[in-house]
Amino acid sequence: VDTQGKATFKHLPTNQLVEALQLGIQYSVGGLEARPAHDVLFQDFITVELINFPKSGRTQTPKATPPHRFNDFTIRSYAPVAFRHFREKFNIRPVDYLSSICKPFRELKNPGASGSLFYLTADDEFIIKTVQKKEATFLRRLLPGYYMNVTQNQRTLLPKFFGLYCYQGDNKNIRIIVMNNLIPSRIQMHEKYDLKGSTYKRRANSEERLKQFPTWKDLDFMERHPKGLTLDSETYAALAKTVERDCRVLESFQIMDYSFLIGIHYANHHSDSPIDSRGTNGFFNDPSSPQPPRMMYATPMANIHAEFEEHNRPDDAQLAKTGGIPAQTADGQRVYLYVGIIDILQSYQLRKKLEHTFKSVLTDGSQISVTHPRYYSERYQKFLFSSVFKKAPSRQSGGNLFVP
Ligand code: ATP
Ligand code: CA
Ligand code: CA
Repeated sequence: VDTQGKATFKHLPTNQLVEALQLGIQYSVGGLEARPAHDVLFQDFITVELINFPKSGRTQTPKATPPHRFNDFTIRSYAPVAFRHFREKFNIRPVDYLSSICKPFRELKNPGASGSLFYLTADDEFIIKTVQKKEATFLRRLLPGYYMNVTQNQRTLLPKFFGLYCYQGDNKNIRIIVMNNLIPSRIQMHEKYDLKGSTYKRRANSEERLKQFPTWKDLDFMERHPKGLTLDSETYAALAKTVERDCRVLESFQIMDYSFLIGIHYANHHSDSPIDSRGTNGFFNDPSSPQPPRMMYATPMANIHAEFEEHNRPDDAQLAKTGGIPAQTADGQRVYLYVGIIDILQSYQLRKKLEHTFKSVLTDGSQISVTHPRYYSERYQKFLFSSVFKKAPSRQSGGNLFVP
């Protein structure tokens, strides 16, 4: 926030950043439509499209740009053809992407320490996050491998990236990524956790705890759910398999420091309707007109390739559509979980080595969250599938998750 009380990012008013991005994305995606689709070539991963937006606009077609009230700026659209292909893979049509991107964004309060800005599109589909230069560089390097993975396997809890852009103007570069939103605003998340499988400093700080909807961490989870959350044995297996496969991909890219995000909706909490009009992000979404997600594999259940078992199918059709993972707390409450792996753009090789050597002399080396990728992934999965998620006894042996 600047001296006049305006929200700024790197001293740029955030509304200017958002409007500039919206113009740039519109231009980039619109321009792509004129180009015939072809198979993705290696070239497409490294292409950068530069779009200049002079203040007074540009009239010559087909490169016309509108006049605007800011100084001249440029939007760089990275690998536009490759990202178009990613969007197609997930059934996101250009008109849908544009209509999501062009409506006003809602700013999210970021509990992260990185200072990134987060925005949510009005239709709840996409998160827009500012990233550091090294994260943007890393994503560009990752693209061919990421593409290979998405092509082989669309059911994944890894973030789905739909675009990478850079705003350049007034001597600033601000990079942003567009990705899928994991936490539907229409559903009240009674609790939200960002888990790493580490205990070192893994407690929500005092500022976070004061929020109406805090994002809690590992130690908070262990306190609140010492016996974890119980999943149906099929669901447990499907989730574990998906996370294992995803972690193998992350390890292969030497990625670490990622989190497992869990939003918990209690089926019988405080409200008559499972769909609350005010979501966790504090927004009002008209519950009478829920938009079904347009994206393919948009729900956790679809991503872990699981079906609702007959005995734990949600009673409420609206809730079923949101595809949360059914689970149960130790004291027998029915919950639905909204989950995914987030914050994957930290590469061990890029900068972690030094930090590890430094931190391990200060504390017990196994407890800090900055360690080797292989070790990180193992500890992460071990924590998730022994402390966080518990397998209900299988049905044959009489265990039925949702029948008291
Ligand atoms: P840091 O590097 O300090 O951990 P960051 O700025 O990189 O933070 P993230 O870790 O990516 O931020 O995310 C911070 C929080 O934002 C998460 O804990 C989660 O609450 C929310 N969040 C991030 N990505 C998503 C997503 N795809 N869908 C919904 N919520 C998200
Ligand atoms: Ca993080
Ligand atoms: Ca981060």
